[in-house]
Amino acid sequence: MKTAAVIGAGIAGIAASIRLATKGYAVDVYEANAYPGGKLSTVEEGGYRFDAGPSLFTMPHLIDDLFQLAGRNPTDYFEYVRLDETCRYFWDDGTRLTAWADLERFGREVEAVLDEPAEHLHGHLVDSALKYDVTEKLFLHRSLHKLTTWLNRDALRGYLNLPKLGVFRTMNSANERRFRHPKLVQLFNRYATYNGSNPYQTPATLNIIPHLEYNIGAFFPVHGMISITNSLVRLAEELGVRFHYNTRVTEILTAGKRVAGVMSDEQRAKSDDEPPVVSATHHSSLVTHHCDLVVSNMDVVSTFRKLLPNARQPERILRQPKSSSGLIFYWGIRRKFTELNLHNIFFSDDYRAEFDSLSGQQLADDPTIYLNITSKHKPDDAPPGCENWFILLNAPNNTGQDWDTVIAQARQNVIRKLSHGLGVDIEPLIETEAVLDPRSIESRTSSWQGALYGNSSNNRFAAFLRHPNFSHQFKNLYFVGGSVHPGGGIPLCLLSAKIATEMV
Ligand SMILES: Cc1cc2nc3c(=O)[nH]c(=O)nc-3n(C[C@H](O)[C@H](O)[C@H](O)COP(=O)(O)OP(=O)(O)OC[C@H]3O[C@@H](n4cnc5c(N)ncnc54)[C@H](O)[C@@H]3O)c2cc1C
Repeated sequence: MKTAAVIGAGIAGIAASIRLATKGYAVDVYEANAYPGGKLSTVEEGGYRFDAGPSLFTMPHLIDDLFQLAGRNPTDYFEYVRLDETCRYFWDDGTRLTAWADLERFGREVEAVLDEPAEHLHGHLVDSALKYDVTEKLFLHRSLHKLTTWLNRDALRGYLNLPKLGVFRTMNSANERRFRHPKLVQLFNRYATYNGSNPYQTPATLNIIPHLEYNIGAFFPVHGMISITNSLVRLAEELGVRFHYNTRVTEILTAGKRVAGVMSDEQRAKSDDEPPVVSATHHSSLVTHHCDLVVSNMDVVSTFRKLLPNARQPERILRQPKSSSGLIFYWGIRRKFTELNLHNIFFSDDYRAEFDSLSGQQLADDPTIYLNITSKHKPDDAPPGCENWFILLNAPNNTGQDWDTVIAQARQNVIRKLSHGLGVDIEPLIETEAVLDPRSIESRTSSWQGALYGNSSNNRFAAFLRHPNFSHQFKNLYFVGGSVHPGGGIPLCLLSAKIATEMV
């Protein structure tokens, strides 16, 4: 039986392990943490449960595909529902707007609240669907680094529709042309942050993102985002995949133009009868694992710098600017707020200034706040009468800032803004607190500089400057996850696993 080693049990690593197992490989997944999922994991604090990272779930069929590939019925493992409300938006001047899944209703809301003709909204979403349709097969389902991708009917369609893709203007300028109300421009500019980019720099091609949320839909996994990880790990284990936790890969072993396996550092819990080791309850041992192919789900920059330091480094790709990071507060709140729902946004007054701050490696004083409350749909995530607040701010990459000071200041800014928006002092309602910041994102997942989505998409060539899903140097080395083609976010990570394993 052929053997494969997967480095990392992030969503793409798990998906790759399932796909390889269905191809007949014996698969071992080595995971540095004690738990699977990487960014897609869970946090528990004082009776509250939070999804640690991703909260917006789109394109659920990509998860279903994995169960179907393995001959299973997806609903035996994983359940989700379509949301009838996509997001609630709040501005400091008291304006409130709900984005409904029913687009006619959303159109009426936009007309009533912002006096913006509904046809502007509908036109934008039709255009978004067109962009998606043209780019999907070309950019999302194939390697951009194989000639066959560029010599077929889908590519021809792409060339013919190039002017419609918005490659030559920014997202903001396209949205300013489309909408007359600045608040609607801001609302649709926000989609740049779905892959950690800046709407004033990223090309309007990224206006494909609203298509996912509005035309295909936003969904909620009935047992929380963590059930994506848990159900896929269960499937993988049933297919014979072996997960090795607390096992960090320290080196990819090479032999000429091939990789021969991985070296791992296994942190074993010390048993009582073993002699004490210096200042630790764990100790390490280096172990070599030989295999026929290796898939790295570790960030590609970290893979080259740390696991392949003697290989040729693809500098141009590795040095691309990274997507933004995030600062997350997990707050247990001892009250319920009927004006809030699952997804809520409290916009900054000056969106451009916010992105200028991020470009200057700083957090804005008036940040846009994303507030996610899963207990609205999954009441057991919070004690009775309480809510689990997941608060995400766009944050710069970790370049050595004084994060403790930055976090303390940001906390005050968030409390001030939410207290103003909700008309009640929030601070005394915070019962429990945990924090995730660019430093801890980097240390917990090996994401370079704590970037949430690998490289940024702030220039029109970004898609071509992500690392391919295969290695040019080593025939049997593959790459999956948010730092490589086609990019970050759960759907694209799942597609990276599909593209990589189809090349095997
Ligand atoms: C706060 C936040 C909010 C987000 N919101 C959304 C959202 O709403 N919707 C969405 O679709 N996406 C969202 N994302 C992005 C999404 O979470 C990621 O794109 C995706 O989960 C990344 O998956 P991955 O497969 O690249 O692996 P990661 O999650 O980065 O995991 C990599 C894994 O590899 C392990 N690893 C690394 N190096 C080694 C090594 N040497 N040896 C062993 N193991 C190793 C790590 O421990 C980790 O478990 C968000 C991310 C964050 C952090």
